[in-house]
Amino acid sequence: MDTRSLPGTGPGPVIIEKPVESPLSAEERGRRTASPAFGTAMTEHMVSAVWSEDRGWHDAELLPYAPLLLDPATVGLHYGQSVFEGLKAFRSPAGEVSVFRAEAHARRFRSSARRLMMPEMPEELFLAAVDSLVGHDQAWIPDDPGMSLYLRPLLFASERTLALRPARAYRFVLLAFVTEGYFGPDQRPVRVWITDEYTRAAAGGTGAAKCAGNYAGSLLAQEEARERGCDQVVWLDPVERKWVEEMGGMNLFFVRGSGADARLVTPPLTGSLLAGVTRDALLRLAPELGIPAEEAPVSVADWREGCASGEITEVFACGTAARVSPVNEVATSTGSWTIGDGRTGEVTLRLSEALTSLQRGELPDPHGWMRPVPPSGRAGGA
Ligand code: PMP
Repeated sequence: MDTRSLPGTGPGPVIIEKPVESPLSAEERGRRTASPAFGTAMTEHMVSAVWSEDRGWHDAELLPYAPLLLDPATVGLHYGQSVFEGLKAFRSPAGEVSVFRAEAHARRFRSSARRLMMPEMPEELFLAAVDSLVGHDQAWIPDDPGMSLYLRPLLFASERTLALRPARAYRFVLLAFVTEGYFGPDQRPVRVWITDEYTRAAAGGTGAAKCAGNYAGSLLAQEEARERGCDQVVWLDPVERKWVEEMGGMNLFFVRGSGADARLVTPPLTGSLLAGVTRDALLRLAPELGIPAEEAPVSVADWREGCASGEITEVFACGTAARVSPVNEVATSTGSWTIGDGRTGEVTLRLSEALTSLQRGELPDPHGWMRPVPPSGRAGGA
């Protein structure tokens, strides 16, 4: 038996709720969430839970948002046993709040934990934590349809030891912040840099897990992109440095052809890419809009030549934070090129609109992707 898996002795998905005594006023919330930089406009609560070898998951609580007190020998800080997720809650025009594909994020959180030899959080506990936090803090989501509540579940090794082995104690926290699109409210097209110097991950490594180290390892390449006047870095496969994998913290889609002949291609999950939940949603939504979609390798040469010949008409990235984000220019160490006419294309716009309308509850939800979360009794304050 895998000793990291849940021994089944936890309390089940019960969150003990200890909300703040006096929630902030609507005016103060509005002030704190006006044009927030990504990851800064935190709400008033967090959920915390702990895992130990003898007790499994326990002490799952909703608490006022507050700093953590950590021993300097907290092992997760040293060796990177730390995994996280990112998912969003949206407000519908009728005012109801729902979380997009919470179950899929719960599953990926478990699989990331498995890869890092960490205890897998049961999906019911993950969902109970999401419901508790979103129930209490949903009044933070502004009415502005471009805004949403980003949820950040984090699991890290909390044992006080510097022994290099799987830790025997873990801490889970779930935070939330108010956000607009990662690239601002208007989703302007981004210029990307294809790095041939750095790689993000290799098959057999941790690229398919959402673990902290992957992101630390990406920062230098992101800085290289910034120095070249680009917004984001594009990763190639680590072996041949030929095949496009993904972009920063987003998956990539290519549109081949146009009009009624347009079809989508996204690189396959080779083991070094993250299996994006948005990627999966678009692979399913596109055919419903009459746009065939397939997973197939795309090389840099194909990207460049496809744009020159007009065969590749649009490129966009997608992810929870960035939503559907058009790419209009590509730079490499051997030259640069423009995609289409440099403006956001029709297929990108259609998919972006379909996804955001579904997330905002403006369209039916045949896949059951939206998890409605009613406000909790004390939600929001005056
Ligand atoms: N790739 C990477 C490396 C990411 O960090 C993310 C964001 N989680 C994605 C792709 C997109 O995944 P998702 O659609 O689940 O947000």
